[in-house]
Amino acid sequence: MLPAKLRLRRRVPRPTAGVLVSLEAAGHPAYLVGGCVRDILQGRPPLDWDIATGALPEQVMHLFERTVPTGLKYGTVTVIQSGVPIQVTTFRSETGYQDHRRPEGVTFIPDLQADLSRRDFTINAMALDARGCLYDPLGGRDDLRRRLVRAVGDPRRRFDEDGLRLLRGVRLVAELGFELEAETGRAMGEKAHLLDHIAPERIGAELARIVQSAHPGKGLVLLERTGLLDRFLPELRAGVGLIQNEHHVFTVWEHTVLAVEHVPPDLTLRLAALLHDVAKPYTLTVGDDGRRHFFGHELLGADMAEEILTRLRFGRPVVDRVRHLVRQHMALHHAPDMKEAAVRRLLARIGQDAIKPLLQLRQADRLASGTKQGPVSEGTARLLGRMERILAGDSALALRDLAVDGHDVQRVTGLPPGPAVGRILRRLLDAVLEEPALNRRQCLEDLARRLAADEDGRV
Ligand code: ATP
Ligand code: MG
Repeated sequence: MLPAKLRLRRRVPRPTAGVLVSLEAAGHPAYLVGGCVRDILQGRPPLDWDIATGALPEQVMHLFERTVPTGLKYGTVTVIQSGVPIQVTTFRSETGYQDHRRPEGVTFIPDLQADLSRRDFTINAMALDARGCLYDPLGGRDDLRRRLVRAVGDPRRRFDEDGLRLLRGVRLVAELGFELEAETGRAMGEKAHLLDHIAPERIGAELARIVQSAHPGKGLVLLERTGLLDRFLPELRAGVGLIQNEHHVFTVWEHTVLAVEHVPPDLTLRLAALLHDVAKPYTLTVGDDGRRHFFGHELLGADMAEEILTRLRFGRPVVDRVRHLVRQHMALHHAPDMKEAAVRRLLARIGQDAIKPLLQLRQADRLASGTKQGPVSEGTARLLGRMERILAGDSALALRDLAVDGHDVQRVTGLPPGPAVGRILRRLLDAVLEEPALNRRQCLEDLARRLAADEDGRV
């Protein structure tokens, strides 16, 4: 077996090692730090490279050919070496002597130890030099072996300094499958309110990583137990402990956590699983026979999902896709004896692209019910078969499949561009979904003229 130093050194790719060596050759101490050291020790490929150095940003920019001043006032310069971006940051401390030229609280210091002490968790507070020497003054390696996420120093103080660390801690647990060290966990519960001061987009970004991680269920359970979830997603609280009906052995919250675990790690799918039943507590009714129902929870849930994800600053495309999946998550559920036109209308409503994710959500929903066997019900399987046959044919299912377009409608009706044209096109599609044979230019132009006469009646 190779000596440990050599083994670690070999895991650092050439461009990154080159930056370390150049800094040292110019007389500046330089180390890999943070997540990449943690990853190297675990034998995982790092997502990004961070170097801490005694060199000031101006010196770093002078030393390398290609640099980007990504965060100068925080001491960060990105060095591009053989196409690989490497973040080089001057040793920092958040306490002690203040340099009046720097933002409040940021001080550049000549020493690695203080830089490591300001980091969030021990497993993120190790450094590795160009020779493969590990610097681990805070016991990160032991915690890595014990699979523990432990705050550096006094956890309460560390969370007070920066509330985002609460979510970073949960994210590490979810990504690595580790446990929270007991005192760090207690401090998290006590300091949950600090999240109220964190920018929503930063909370959203951590939530995105937690749900897409290898152990999302672990992360979600932790978020709930510590009270963190209540601070940014209180809507889910009402499902905790809420018993459902004969279709489910789990409470709404337990079912939600399992559903997230059962869908593939795609952002929209995982968020849709997280929110698919968010409205159940708010739509619960009990029938005369004592049975519990959640009528319309997918309708209200779609609105709530949109509200929640917009609040957490997810991008429009993600919000729209999750909203659609939540809205339609019951669509493949029951398959009573539908007429062919009804299946076509359902397909048009769902959209071809959403069938696969909806099916994945349906399977997860089922697996997470605790009462059902197999990936889908017979009814769903039959419905899917019918959908496949329709898709294999040339039925028009969307406006773009129609034999006429908006220009044609304007030409034959004399209508100006505007919402009336859109309404007519949608009505043409409705007619074609009902009767596919109508999808011919002549038929649709005649129909458009008649519909335009209707439109005249409107203001
Ligand atoms: P990954 O790269 O996998 O996202 P990471 O641990 O490298 O994980 P980064 O956000 O890249 O996370 O941060 C790099 C390092 O900077 C961390 O490992 C940690 O040492 C330090 N760090 C980042 N954010 C904070 C914070 N809010 N408080 C204290 N230290 C932090
Ligand atoms: Mg990193």
